[in-house]
Amino acid sequence: MTHPPADAEARRAIRPVICYPTDSLPQPDMALYRAARAGARKVAEVLVPPRDARTFEVPAGQFFRISSVEGPQVGDLNLHNLHDLSERFFSGKTRALHGTHITTGDRMWSTLPHLRPMATVVADTLGWYGIDAFGGSVHDVIGTRCDPYTHQLLSGGMYHHCCHSNLTRALAGHMGAPRAGAEPLVHDVLNVFMCTGFTRDTGQYFMKASPVRPGDHIEFFAEIDLLGNLSACPGGDCSAEHSSDVAACHPLLVEVFAPEDGALAGWAPPPPNAYDRSHG
Ligand SMILES: [Zn+2]
Repeated sequence: MTHPPADAEARRAIRPVICYPTDSLPQPDMALYRAARAGARKVAEVLVPPRDARTFEVPAGQFFRISSVEGPQVGDLNLHNLHDLSERFFSGKTRALHGTHITTGDRMWSTLPHLRPMATVVADTLGWYGIDAFGGSVHDVIGTRCDPYTHQLLSGGMYHHCCHSNLTRALAGHMGAPRAGAEPLVHDVLNVFMCTGFTRDTGQYFMKASPVRPGDHIEFFAEIDLLGNLSACPGGDCSAEHSSDVAACHPLLVEVFAPEDGALAGWAPPPPNAYDRSHG
């Protein structure tokens, strides 16, 4: 128990400042991306089975779309540089730059020392949702991924289809390596279609039934050559629980689209961050 100082209210009344104003962030050329997408054709698709994960490759300059099919379903997305799996999605810095949830125009940034955009959101049919009365919104970068270790800690027992395990199996399959070699590369996700927030009274992470319906999708432009890894969460629409086989689960569809030759004239993949890495 602590006692508030005499000037407690004055201290609380100090106005916040945005940690990372994004005015000076390099902005994506959304008009160029839209024009390139208009002439793009589908070149690949992967159906992610419920309570499992699949990897997919997207060359730089192509688009990938994640769609809800059959029923409401949340997806846990990992992204890697296809040629260097250690460069992967950095959910913490993406959150610091773009906020707790991402939508059209926001980008998925890679880990240090690379810190460059890996993918840019170019379409989001749930963009209308905004922030609800509970403080919830869609496509968060605040959760981690459901995992069997936290499940063990809280509930005991062994459950093998948490997103962390699904992503581990899929990545191991891609690498042709033992699961123990792939597991350390699995990282905090973009929670595709998941509706989450923090409670105002206790600050706890919450989830609620996703507003996603079949036909809804989120679409990305690949800024670098990507290896995607998507798990169809055992929580289904994440309305009640995850880390079990109780929730109704559905597949997720990933489709890759290639623009016409020359459609991205003047565009090039972003280089790694320019900091000299001397650390003084
Ligand atoms: Zn999950």
